[in-house]
Amino acid sequence: MTDAPLKLFNSLTRQPEEFTPIHHGEARVYTCGPTVYNYQHVGNMRAYIFADTLGRTLSWKGYKLSHVINITDVGHLTSDADAGDDKMEKAAAREGKSAWDIARYYQEVFEADLDRLNVRKPAHPRATDYVESMIEWGKQMQDKHCYELDSGLYFDVSTVPDYGKLARAVTEEGEARIETVDGKRNAADFAIWRKTPEGEDRQMEWDSPWGKGAPGWHLECSVMSAELLGHPFDIHTGGIDHREIHHPNEIAQNQAHNCSEGSAANIWMHNNFLIDRRGKMSKSTGDFLVLQTLVDRGFHPLAYRMMCLQAHYRSELEFTWEGLEAALTRLKRMVMLVENLKTRHAELDSASISDPDPWVRDDGWTLKQVQGDDRGKLRASLEKFDTALAEDLNSAVALTAFDDVLAVKKVDVAKKANLAAAMDSVLGLGLFDLARTDLRIRPKDAQVTQEEIETALEDRKAARADKDFAKSDAIRDDLMTKGVEVMDGDPLGWEWKLS
Ligand code: AMP
Ligand code: ZN
Repeated sequence: MTDAPLKLFNSLTRQPEEFTPIHHGEARVYTCGPTVYNYQHVGNMRAYIFADTLGRTLSWKGYKLSHVINITDVGHLTSDADAGDDKMEKAAAREGKSAWDIARYYQEVFEADLDRLNVRKPAHPRATDYVESMIEWGKQMQDKHCYELDSGLYFDVSTVPDYGKLARAVTEEGEARIETVDGKRNAADFAIWRKTPEGEDRQMEWDSPWGKGAPGWHLECSVMSAELLGHPFDIHTGGIDHREIHHPNEIAQNQAHNCSEGSAANIWMHNNFLIDRRGKMSKSTGDFLVLQTLVDRGFHPLAYRMMCLQAHYRSELEFTWEGLEAALTRLKRMVMLVENLKTRHAELDSASISDPDPWVRDDGWTLKQVQGDDRGKLRASLEKFDTALAEDLNSAVALTAFDDVLAVKKVDVAKKANLAAAMDSVLGLGLFDLARTDLRIRPKDAQVTQEEIETALEDRKAARADKDFAKSDAIRDDLMTKGVEVMDGDPLGWEWKLS
């Protein structure tokens, strides 16, 4: 019977560690969420696909999961430290809307993108709903750990032990992101509260003991994670850039607030970047890819999830259109095999089916549900799948175990369907809800409609049946001029594709 111990790479120790929950049978996970002043790019979405894979794996291992992804709708400046403009206010000016409308709009788009990528819905608390608690934390920390300047209340990082233990070394990129503020005691000190400058009008501001203003960005994650998940909690995740500044600052605040030397979360996990040929995909360059661009180019959003799962979350992943197309092809192949499996399963006498609807499982499957010694040929694949995920979420190898299950012949169809549905629920590809036709590449700006293509192909079929090959070729050539490639004899069963 397989049940590999779950090992996760902890950025604090830079080693894989066995997951031991703080509360028996539970896993509490906090993921730094988006700043909602703009669209999220596909690099940002990689961070949430990773967090979702972690969450689904914890469910698979039988833990009751509490997962929070916060929404930063206030307080994030254009730099990671305390200088620069407020991102929300800047976006409001750019788009001629209120800062509040900007936040709501981009939050909605973000949540819709999570849905399209099959990221299970975690709790999405907004920072603006926690400002009172943030002020309380500031009051509690100020005597021992903070000092006041004209621009706000600052945290003195020399007042906590081991500041920056998580970052280990300050990288050049990290250093460049800390901008100077007059009067700071240490370069790494950061704002707990940013006062609204005299004579400036801010849309998002609150009264506080340090004057009207807004909380510093780092504070929200300490406050919201402690309030929603308790202190300490199990796992904190984010992109690898957060390992340098944001997460060390969170840890410092938690230590100061709780008068402890702990690190707030037992395990800190960081996904590596999605890059393109120019380097890290980043919002501040203004030139980035959003999920909708992929969809407009005709790709199903889940092809992007597949692309992410094919790489390890701790490796850089380069975005290329060829890579996305390869991921789509793999997804298609799996969908076809699942379609066949579903048909065969439905044809079986219902008496021989252990679970008549194995793919309907909202909360995801657990290992327990598919464990057992009677799986014969399927057992090795189950073991491979479980071990791969348990080894720091090796989704690439887990995918190959899934391929093995879909390919295996002469096994009990119901058991195969059960196991395939379970694996699908852990990887979140939604294969059982997809049809091949959903995955057809159909760019938004295509010159020809699906109906026109289908009619032309019907005419071509009739011409071939009449042995009128001249007509058949003419139809094919005409489609070609419209950008439609006819794919006779395609092994995946595609009749056409848009090129
Ligand atoms: P932000 O809204 O900028 O705070 O970013 C949201 C999440 O995306 C954070 O966890 C970032 O670390 C992560 N992130 C930002 N850029 C990338 C990228 N190119 N690849 C992967 N993750 C990223
Ligand atoms: Zn955070």
